[in-house]
Amino acid sequence: MTERFTPTVGLLHLRGESQQSFHKKAAQAAEARFGRKVFVRAVVEISNFCRENCAYCGMRRDNRNLSRFRARHDDLAELLIHHRPPIVTDINIQAGEDPLAVREVALPLIRTLRRETSLGISVCLGTLNAELYSELQAAGATIYILKFEIAQPQLYREFKAPGTFEQRIAHIRLLADSGWFVSSGFIAGLQGQSDADLLANLELARELPLSGCSVSPFIPGEETPLAKHPMANIDGTLNCMAALRLMRPDWVIPSVSALNLAEPSGGYRRGLRTGANLVTINMTPPDIRGNYLLYKRDRFIMTEERILADVNAEGLKTSEQSLAEYWKTKRGNAKLAMAKTEPVQ
Ligand code: SF4
Repeated sequence: MTERFTPTVGLLHLRGESQQSFHKKAAQAAEARFGRKVFVRAVVEISNFCRENCAYCGMRRDNRNLSRFRARHDDLAELLIHHRPPIVTDINIQAGEDPLAVREVALPLIRTLRRETSLGISVCLGTLNAELYSELQAAGATIYILKFEIAQPQLYREFKAPGTFEQRIAHIRLLADSGWFVSSGFIAGLQGQSDADLLANLELARELPLSGCSVSPFIPGEETPLAKHPMANIDGTLNCMAALRLMRPDWVIPSVSALNLAEPSGGYRRGLRTGANLVTINMTPPDIRGNYLLYKRDRFIMTEERILADVNAEGLKTSEQSLAEYWKTKRGNAKLAMAKTEPVQ
């Protein structure tokens, strides 16, 4: 039986050499499970309409200064089928919470990709309903990214995170129960978030039926009510990532592009040195991606070139197996192992 790792307040505050050795331990845990490989996913952002009003996001419905868009299926299909970098094994289709875009863009795009490619397909489309989830699944998506954002219900309400905390958690469980591989995530470094709140994020991640989880540093979005709040400290964010990795060596944990906003001189690479094993190339067409306003209009876009430079600089290799295939195989093996241990009647 493997030893249970328990995150502590002391670990959240590590700096200097002790921090380095903590991060190294996390990277070694990832390496022991995955080798020196990272999964490579491309993201396309298909709509910036959103019915939610999260205080930390520029696409919140109250932001009236934003030109809203829905991408065209044909443009995205052409781009992803004929012009994606060869290292990409998975696609993530992402949007604000916009059920119309799910019907008009995501579903047709998933069907096209399923027919024309063997790419793994993830979606990050917010809290929908059981019917839409199963339509997405029937179309060929297998991974649902639904971040719980904030584990502390009072803060969840204060920051106006999507819907209600209870609903968000119920949907994560519903998705996992209906066969999705679910990846979640939380924000580190929000103003007013205590050490106990950060630890609660880690504990909630541990309890949920997840296959992966991300940690995003809080970045004050320029068109949000939190524009003047201080940015997250990258060290605290990376310490959460390392704790997550040591808690769950088998999870897929991304290095998120916001790490480069929190530390422009190499935050993303530090994520890779802290046990991350997923990188994301942004393939949203350039004419619309400026309006996918998570933080600021002048986005730091992780292109194929930047991703490869960072992966190579850290001595890592890109995985030839897709993330979707990895999880499918893992689930198959777990079922097989269970069948072997069941007593014969
Ligand atoms: S974080 Fe997501 S749900 Fe919240 S406002 Fe932004 S796009 Fe909408």
